[in-house]
Amino acid sequence: ESSTSLSIVVVGASGDLARRKIFPALFALFCEDRLPQNVTIFGYARSKMTNEELRNMIIMNLTCKIDKRQNCNEKMDQFLKKCFCHSGQYSSEKHFMELDEKLKEKESGRSSNRLFYLAIPPSMFIDAVRCAKRSASSGNGWTRVIVEKPFGHDITSSREMTGCLKQYLTEDQIFRINHHMGEELVENLLVLRFSNLIFQPLWSRKYIRNVQFIFSEDFGTAKRGRYFDNYGIIRDIIQNHLLQILALFAMETPVSLAAEDIRNEKAKVLRSISPVQLEDVVVGQYKNDGHGQGITSHGHPAYTDDPTVSTNSLTPTFAAATLFINNSRWDGVPFLMIAGKALHSKRMEIRVQFRHVPGNLYNRNFGTDLDKATNELVLRVQPDEAIYLKINNKVPGLGMRLDLSHLNLLYKSMNEREIPDAYGRLLLDAIEGERRLFIRSDELDAAWGVFSPLLKELEEKKIVPELYSYGSSGPAGVHYLAAKHSIRWGEFGDDP
Ligand code: NAP
Repeated sequence: ESSTSLSIVVVGASGDLARRKIFPALFALFCEDRLPQNVTIFGYARSKMTNEELRNMIIMNLTCKIDKRQNCNEKMDQFLKKCFCHSGQYSSEKHFMELDEKLKEKESGRSSNRLFYLAIPPSMFIDAVRCAKRSASSGNGWTRVIVEKPFGHDITSSREMTGCLKQYLTEDQIFRINHHMGEELVENLLVLRFSNLIFQPLWSRKYIRNVQFIFSEDFGTAKRGRYFDNYGIIRDIIQNHLLQILALFAMETPVSLAAEDIRNEKAKVLRSISPVQLEDVVVGQYKNDGHGQGITSHGHPAYTDDPTVSTNSLTPTFAAATLFINNSRWDGVPFLMIAGKALHSKRMEIRVQFRHVPGNLYNRNFGTDLDKATNELVLRVQPDEAIYLKINNKVPGLGMRLDLSHLNLLYKSMNEREIPDAYGRLLLDAIEGERRLFIRSDELDAAWGVFSPLLKELEEKKIVPELYSYGSSGPAGVHYLAAKHSIRWGEFGDDP
């Protein structure tokens, strides 16, 4: 039996995130024997719950992770026995002290590491951090805190929050979680870039014409727009998710794969991005799809039909923005980011469009459609994982016709393995102290720097979003934005 114990405290245990994501992810890690033997999990909430009530709440969302084997119920029982509840206020040092007593009892004299997961509204973050730090940090092991997004509302409030967190925590105790960073594509992007010779020389303005980062959902806010309406798609997806992926895509080679080396390069490239200009942005908001009106009919409702959203909301549910990186590698290359809700498909992908072949021999002699004939590399997470390179081939036969075919680069058997849940991976990283996929304070600050002036301008000038139909491919304005930067853009790509 190991002499170290681990205590995980889910702060806000009664909430949606805790129930749907955090406890199930902890259970998955438990099933795979990735949690230490001496682990204790505490749910902390204002709601009064007994241990039994907490366990009943947890079990509702647990799915069997070890099907085909018999001991699933047994595993669940073992897991639930490690879960306990403590009721208290988030701003009460006294209540956290009581938690500390209970934790010490479970840790029974072993050296103890403690991980706090803040699954509460951001307005409560600082109070909870203060109490956890003062009354419940570990005396003889590490104490770490996972913080959920949103990380501020703009550069000022983000700096304020970082400043407050740093009053109580050091940088290496803060784990800002963005669950998208736990997706396979994120890790594979670096492998693709840095372990394949063929891509290395191509990865610059010399050969890449533009890059697109596309995120779309095929559903709207579905009566849960209250949170979203305060943030909008730019804060929710583009600034915090797509920009992180762009940083990994465009950064220079890190000194090593150590977290600080990677985060140094990400921070550097983020600081090289010019603040986004209003004229390089299209914002949209979905309206109903025309099949009947409002939420009660058969058709899909408009964003402003959501009863939790104000009827005159100008919050964008769609945005496209062109970004430029001012460094020698990427000068002049447009990076087009597109994100939207209530579109016709669910999609997350990166498209890299390469330049034309110089001298365009085949175009001159056979009239090939030059624009269509450029190479394109596609990295897709949704709807299904795919990585392929579009290359030109001769169509078999006597004539000379060219066609694009797809060179499949996805390692097939990878697809058949169960892809680990993003929350599980990130929780494990936090337990192991692996910070590579968490956002460091200076990175966050640089990321806000790119979008804060734009967000301010959109709000001050009350820019009215272009309406698009629920289930469509988004506002027409995107085509003009793409054309302005000579970006070939189909309806989120024209491939199968
Ligand atoms: P939630 O259900 O609204 O809140 C979590 C818990 O916090 C509630 O059960 C409640 O517990 C307590 N709480 C709620 N409002 C409070 C208030 N005004 N003052 C003090 N305590 C309050 O939130 P959530 O959806 O689980 O999300 C938690 C955090 O994760 C938020 O910061 C959210 O932005 C972020 N997040 C959520 C998701 C998601 O899928 N849900 C995804 C990404 C990020 P008690 O009343 O029992 O104390």
